[in-house]
Amino acid sequence: MEQSQKVKELLSSPQKIVITTHQRADGDAIGSSLGMFHYLRKKNHQVNFISPTDYPEFLKWMPGNENVIIYEKESAKSKQLVEQATVIFCLDFNKLYRLEELGTLIEKSSATKILIDHHLEPDDFAEYKFCNEKASSTSELVYDFILKLEEKSLIDAAIATCLYAGILMDTDRFRIPSTSPSVHRVVAELMEYGIDHTNIYQELYETFSENRLRFFGYCIREKLEVIKDLRCGIIALEKEDLNRFSIQLGDTEGLVNYPLWIKDVVVSALITPKQKEVKLSLRSKGNFSVEKICREHFGGGGHRNASGGSSQLSVKETREKLISIFARAKNELHSAEK
Ligand code: 5GP
Ligand code: MN
Repeated sequence: MEQSQKVKELLSSPQKIVITTHQRADGDAIGSSLGMFHYLRKKNHQVNFISPTDYPEFLKWMPGNENVIIYEKESAKSKQLVEQATVIFCLDFNKLYRLEELGTLIEKSSATKILIDHHLEPDDFAEYKFCNEKASSTSELVYDFILKLEEKSLIDAAIATCLYAGILMDTDRFRIPSTSPSVHRVVAELMEYGIDHTNIYQELYETFSENRLRFFGYCIREKLEVIKDLRCGIIALEKEDLNRFSIQLGDTEGLVNYPLWIKDVVVSALITPKQKEVKLSLRSKGNFSVEKICREHFGGGGHRNASGGSSQLSVKETREKLISIFARAKNELHSAEK
């Protein structure tokens, strides 16, 4: 029997379901999870969505947001829900370590795990896997999943809004190469449910504080370093930069894309100090893989053109390490096709 048939059977009787996603959730993580949340509730399951960590304000408008449980704030309740779960949906991540402590609980759980994801190199921890690294987003895969279970009739405006938001963000507004014809077909279908796509865009992209916009300006004016010879742009932030602008969770989101606006730049990096480590975000154009760099040198991964990782070094040392990696990849960077 095909796995979608098996999952359909599993979900034909009421289950205790936990949906979870990666820490520091982005639009696709929250959109796909809340889309799935509404769908499973409509099927009369007991459903809870647990996010390992808090997430930015600009993601908190999606329908169903009031139901999200944040593990770092409500860990006892989350533990209990994971222990009692019969089915766990793992959305938009490829490795359990991306859930930190919550990942360990999920690993121990005897619930049936279903992974829906589009990252490269997924680990083997789920009974059922709906993984496709060519997909634009996990939200697109959740839409496919509902269709595979032959339940398109259950899609409504709330589900469509969440999935549209996830697709919009993970394709960076239909820009990235994985924006296939089928993405546009899915989005066209979603629009038929009466979603307000202009409002979705505004909620996601036009809710900056003045301070955040000026911080972006500061980063581009003062912090951006362009190394022409290596076709890279790097923004390395120090704690003082974040303090100066009272930077809140999510305020740096999207900043890493700006260096790619420069014609000959093919790779960009944002280095940000966090409490316990230094976080690295990499983006690239064309065939230059930042996934490989994050996986091999920064204990991370993601997609070819968008990946992340972390470093135990200082911001300065992380920047130097990254430049030396780019220098070693100089030939590749020079021949990179956009
Ligand atoms: P961002 O730079 O926006 O944090 O992440 C870019 C992409 O890389 C996202 O798809 C994200 O899920 C993935 N990613 C970010 N950090 C890590 C990490 O530490 N490990 C893995 N495996 N993927 C990551
Ligand atoms: Mn995603």
